[in-house]
Amino acid sequence: MSQAASDAPRFSAGKALFGGASSDGATPLAVLNRIYGYPAFRGKQQQVVDHVVDGGDAVVLFPTGAGKSLCFQIPALCREGVGIVVSPLIALMRDQVEAVKQLGIRAAALNSSLTREEFLDVRRALSSGGLDLLYVTPERIVTDGFREMLAGAKIALFAIDEAHCVSQWGHDFRPEYRELGRLAAEYPGVPRIALTATADPHTREDIIERLSLGGARVFTTSFDRPNIAYEIVERDQPRQQLLRFLSAHKGDSGIVYCLSRAKVEDTAEWLNGQGIRALPYHAGMDRALRDANQDAFLKEENLCLVATVAFGMGIDKPNVRYVAHLDLPGSVEAYYQETGRAGRDGLPSEVWMAYGMADVIQRRRMIDEGAAADEIKRVERAKLNALLAICETAGCRRQAILAHFGETHAGKCGNCDTCLKPVETWDGTEAAIKALAAIYRTGERFGTGHVIDVLTGAVNEKTERFGHTDMPVFGAGKDMPARSWQSVFRQLLAGGFISVDHAAFGALKLEPEARAVFKHERQVLFRKDRPAAAGRRAKNTDRSERRSALSGGDGSLFEALRAERTTIARSLGVPPYVVFPDTTLIAFATERPRSRKELLGISGVGQSKLERFGDAFLDIILAHHE
Ligand code: ADP
Ligand code: ZN
Repeated sequence: MSQAASDAPRFSAGKALFGGASSDGATPLAVLNRIYGYPAFRGKQQQVVDHVVDGGDAVVLFPTGAGKSLCFQIPALCREGVGIVVSPLIALMRDQVEAVKQLGIRAAALNSSLTREEFLDVRRALSSGGLDLLYVTPERIVTDGFREMLAGAKIALFAIDEAHCVSQWGHDFRPEYRELGRLAAEYPGVPRIALTATADPHTREDIIERLSLGGARVFTTSFDRPNIAYEIVERDQPRQQLLRFLSAHKGDSGIVYCLSRAKVEDTAEWLNGQGIRALPYHAGMDRALRDANQDAFLKEENLCLVATVAFGMGIDKPNVRYVAHLDLPGSVEAYYQETGRAGRDGLPSEVWMAYGMADVIQRRRMIDEGAAADEIKRVERAKLNALLAICETAGCRRQAILAHFGETHAGKCGNCDTCLKPVETWDGTEAAIKALAAIYRTGERFGTGHVIDVLTGAVNEKTERFGHTDMPVFGAGKDMPARSWQSVFRQLLAGGFISVDHAAFGALKLEPEARAVFKHERQVLFRKDRPAAAGRRAKNTDRSERRSALSGGDGSLFEALRAERTTIARSLGVPPYVVFPDTTLIAFATERPRSRKELLGISGVGQSKLERFGDAFLDIILAHHE
């Protein structure tokens, strides 16, 4: 089957894009080579493409950056008719369409932001067979008006992007996606392909069921993102810690996630004061300003976007070099999705999170006080605990994360903080018993600060007033500084041995888990937290290596190429990566093509981009040869 699909001549792309210039038919590989300028398919891309070209339904579960877009774009080009792409975000549709247009693909978007004139243009193009791809919102696709519009058109396929939006399990749930299940019955014989980077098994099942894709072939790959370096630090002075992290990312673009809107605003303002160009993004902002900030992030280099989780879905900026979390996300799934926005281009990228006891308290509280049913709350608690286990692990983070998604990784990835600088553990059973005893003896009525005062024997107004200075447990933990006790309490909380009673002003309570520890039936291992500034040196060398790799060994040429890209992008009103991704510019700088023919040999240079941009870049490269 794949033989036939790959080699047989195809339809529209042949006409629209090859202009009769070549006698080859538009096979998937020819489209990949000549339109996208890529030499070969990656991973399972070809399997998906062949399957859909042959008319099969597909569910594609690949991580971010794996190259899902080609999985529906190429079949749409190889099959007769127009590919209808369902995409949830109007604000991003324009860039998606611009990106494929630069490749010479005939594409349009249909959404509520079009003028009447633009709408009629799209309709005309559709009915005359003048479109390869049409992007639409999920709410529009099921309207009668759109159905009528499609009635006269030949449809190559339906692609449902960000398909996890159909599931209530994810945090991007869109009720309109549910209606897309109807496409199966309404357009029999038209292949449908659903795509997502969400690895959660619940979500996968939902996609298949809700979108009537029971008969579809499911394609999965490893969810590992080897180019992403993971780091989770104990929060100490978060702003200073963030600054240190960002200091290694001068000139880069990245995202800083915060939990609350107020913190987003404050952090963005503070970063600007520190000389780091930052813009805020959250759902409470004026819509126009929010869209403008998102657009700036996509179009400019060297910009830090400080955002709540409202930001990020569908952002296909490939050179997001870092993602920082100032607050703990609610689940491994959310953490992975948010961090996954880094390094879509496959180049080295870093993700970093500052995490502390307050996060655990706050997240648990959000669940406890939320409106969800008890059963959902139980799931949410379990999801949070899985993330906490990853935060507190002394083993390889990547291994722990992938294990959560049911994937086996040998560990020792060499690209996470615990691998780069192994964390020591210590037998904390005795310390845990002391901590639990202090909570118990003081009546489970006090918060961490006070219980630590009791343990370390701090004589103050409060310890005296409650008569705690006279207790045997008073000063029982003098041998360790308060900071180490904080680490103990955080780990006891994360491990579920104790809880925080919000109704009682943050009083610590013992959980049933604590009993076995008390009775010496259970050993407790703690991580030895590192001082905040530790672990930097090894990483800084990595970063400088990355810098020289990024500039292709010839910084000035790379910068000149980058400047040209910015100029072209501005004149077209598109993000720079739509012109060429960083990977292509790096190849220009290192391989230094001398002719149009040599340019075509660079990954990412297809026919259309060669015609449009080739000479401008060639001039710069040739000038550097002299
Ligand atoms: P996803 O949607 O899975 O996150 P994209 O479709 O945005 O990934 O692709 C990520 C990047 O990889 C894009 O810049 C894309 O052009 C590039 N890419 C995809 N397939 C290939 C390929 N076969 N060869 C080279 N680059 C590719
Ligand atoms: Zn590791």
